[in-house]
Amino acid sequence: MSFATGLICRECGTGYPSEAFYVCEYCFGPLEVNYDLAGARGVVTRQSILDGPLSMWRYGALLPDPGEAPVDLGAGWTPLRRATRLAEVLGVRELWLKDDTRNPTGSFKDRVVSAALSSARRLGFSTAACASTGNLATSVAAHAAFLGWPSVTIIPSDLEKSKIAMTAIFGGTVLGVEGTYDDVNRLCVELVAEHPDWAFVNINLRPYYAEGSKTLAYEIAEQLNWRTPDQVVVPVASGSQLTKVAKGFKEFVELGLVEGTAPVLFGAQAQGCSPIATAFAQGADVITPQRPNTIARSLAIGNPADGPYVLDELRANGGDCGSVPDDETLECIELLAKTEGVFAETAGGVTIATLRQLIARGSIDPEGSIVAIISGHGLKTLDAVVESATVSSTIAPSLEAAEEALRFHQLVAAS
Ligand SMILES: *Cc1c(COP(=O)(O)O)cnc(C)c1O
Ligand SMILES: [Zn+2]
Repeated sequence: MSFATGLICRECGTGYPSEAFYVCEYCFGPLEVNYDLAGARGVVTRQSILDGPLSMWRYGALLPDPGEAPVDLGAGWTPLRRATRLAEVLGVRELWLKDDTRNPTGSFKDRVVSAALSSARRLGFSTAACASTGNLATSVAAHAAFLGWPSVTIIPSDLEKSKIAMTAIFGGTVLGVEGTYDDVNRLCVELVAEHPDWAFVNINLRPYYAEGSKTLAYEIAEQLNWRTPDQVVVPVASGSQLTKVAKGFKEFVELGLVEGTAPVLFGAQAQGCSPIATAFAQGADVITPQRPNTIARSLAIGNPADGPYVLDELRANGGDCGSVPDDETLECIELLAKTEGVFAETAGGVTIATLRQLIARGSIDPEGSIVAIISGHGLKTLDAVVESATVSSTIAPSLEAAEEALRFHQLVAAS
């Protein structure tokens, strides 16, 4: 049973029923899902959660009503890994990785798509669609295939080959737009008006979509044995994930499910697309759109829909937002892989490089506990590393050649 009561305007507070609304009729503000948290208190307990499935739907009481059953391809309940070697390199005491590379299609987007399409099915939709920087398209196409629905996913045409293949393989219609994600998004807003019977998960289903990200916070708290971390680093594109991770922690605190207070959140962006980090640093309330130019394609949103809410969250709670150049992103993909055995896509490199930057800047306390959200798998952005990650040596098929190479790589002593 869900404690969602309906939708509410984030700007003026006008209420709406749990239907396919996404903008306020009065002020054009975005809508979000509202809950009866007072009613949930004492009903949603640690035990009721422990009795649930090993997926994000163990928190179904705090998610939008999925109708008869959730659309569950297995999103969520990903590992939280203690990262001792990486912590040592970065000079921090307690570091954890929320390993969302382990979702069904290799990114955290499976959480938001599972939430959005569950509501979409309840509301009578039967076609899935989205505007995407890549990972969302893959997840929508996969979940649509799982449902037997047609899908229309719309992406910039110059995305990584691996992301296009991972989307096309599911058999839906993939439209490559000659333009940036912001062009794709503008086009999709027009398409929603033409095809209101299609579930564009991140446009007309956006209030439901966004709720899926709260499960990152719930899982982190539960996996820390019902404790909140002090600090969480979140990669930021539209900003939806960061604002909902914040909401998730606050709800758990309010429900009395965890010890401690909600953590301080930190945003991570690529320098080549850093509209939120820039506005934060300048103390601006308005986000100035940028034209993205970075290898972190999944974070390349130049005009982020939730940007102002991210600024509010970071400013209200002592957070910060960093941005890093692409060479540091690549270096940190390798650093994470070498120290912890986790292969992340470019967004993960951005997150680790930003964590390092914010420690150096003094924004992140090295003595406090830290969680870094690793939101996508490295196989999605192989292009970024194929040049540097290659065989150590190419040798003839002989013992002599092998031994010579091993001496060269100092695995055996020189004779
Ligand atoms: C989409 C995405 C993000 C950021 O999501 P927003 O909610 O738009 O800020 C982070 N990491 C990866 C891998 C993504 O695909
Ligand atoms: Zn309103």
